[in-house]
Amino acid sequence: MIPHEALGQITEIARRNAERVDTEGVFPAEAVDALRSSDLLGLVLPEDVGGLGCGPMEFTEVLGELASACGSTAMIYLMHTVAAVTFADAPPPGMPDLLTGMAEGALLGTVAFSEKGSRSHFWAPVSSASANGSTVSVQADKSWVTSAGYADVYLVSTGSTSGSAGEVDLFAMSKGEAGMTVAGPWKGLGLRGNASSPMRIDSSIPVAHRLGDEGAGFGLMMDTGLPWFNLGNAAVSLGLSSAANTAAISHVSSARLEHQNEALSALPTIRAQIARMGISLTAQQAFLAHAARSVGDPDEATMLNVLAVKASANDAALEITDTAMRVCGGAAFSKHLPIERAFRDARAGSVMAPTADVLYDFYGKAVSGLPLF
Ligand SMILES: Cc1cc2nc3c(=O)[nH]c(=O)nc-3n(C[C@H](O)[C@H](O)[C@H](O)COP(=O)(O)OP(=O)(O)OC[C@H]3O[C@@H](n4cnc5c(N)ncnc54)[C@H](O)[C@@H]3O)c2cc1C
Repeated sequence: MIPHEALGQITEIARRNAERVDTEGVFPAEAVDALRSSDLLGLVLPEDVGGLGCGPMEFTEVLGELASACGSTAMIYLMHTVAAVTFADAPPPGMPDLLTGMAEGALLGTVAFSEKGSRSHFWAPVSSASANGSTVSVQADKSWVTSAGYADVYLVSTGSTSGSAGEVDLFAMSKGEAGMTVAGPWKGLGLRGNASSPMRIDSSIPVAHRLGDEGAGFGLMMDTGLPWFNLGNAAVSLGLSSAANTAAISHVSSARLEHQNEALSALPTIRAQIARMGISLTAQQAFLAHAARSVGDPDEATMLNVLAVKASANDAALEITDTAMRVCGGAAFSKHLPIERAFRDARAGSVMAPTADVLYDFYGKAVSGLPLF
């Protein structure tokens, strides 16, 4: 069960700090500390490692709440959870305390998949890993790692030590590992508190930090990471949309054209725009709930739902936050309203891998009976 009281408190802390986090581009330390002190970092981890044992429905609900308060905090939470579920699926034998540490909030996790060489095609890392007895030497240029330098444990993809083309290995790497460095600052249009910096890895780590067998990484990425990431990323898009929608309705209902003695909502064009926003948001939320249920209780449509839900929510968020900006006029543009942050934060979803365009292509391939890769 979701610890609603704790979630409410964390959401409030995130909301209170969101503007400063965005303006100054700083990591949302207060909200992340509050997450660490709650049970929420273990929300979907199994109870036998100290988690709450919740499923995709609760996960998307929590992310939607966090995103409506602070997009950066929500994205940090999403990356932690994707790392956690992947570790839980194939716990690295050399890190026996990893899952309990993540569940109890001592270890914040993140995902280091995207690379300079293969860009958004995260399933095809060009980085290398070579085994030498019980150690593995990893060389990788990671292009964006959310919580870089702040996370305690990193889910790192590399080309497989098998040397076979297309095979991937996944490793758990701890903060402070020799040769693992944050390679630049993070300055984004939105999600400015994310610390999504590039990282350079040139490290030797125990082979026992690998998840599963040699070459098992691709399957773990697709079967475990992808469903949770796509659901969570969609939930962030809709949480940001919800915040923009609520703020826009509030503004057009209260801002007055005094010479006409009426609110902006008296204009039929404005009413039609806010109706479109609300209907789109409601439809997307219903689809997200449907997709989350189908990931929790898989059937033959689950993979299509997983592919569709992120692209669909990402693109809806672009439209909803754009409309919110439009109906609120210069008041939104000049930052008098908390809408332009949601507008900027919402630009990230569609370009986060798998990007919306890639997902449309995958969906088209899937329904046409073509292989995805
Ligand atoms: C805020 C933020 C946080 C991030 N955090 C992380 C993180 O924590 N971990 C991580 O691993 N990565 C992270 N990323 C990286 C992200 O997942 C993507 O890999 C990255 O945004 C892709 O950018 P790019 O310039 O390399 O895109 P490119 O790959 O260069 O894509 C450019 C355009 O081409 C399109 N395109 C590419 N291939 C295809 C195709 N086959 N079919 C159709 N269209 C295609 C894309 O959709 C896009 O529109 C983050 C990115 C952002 C913006």
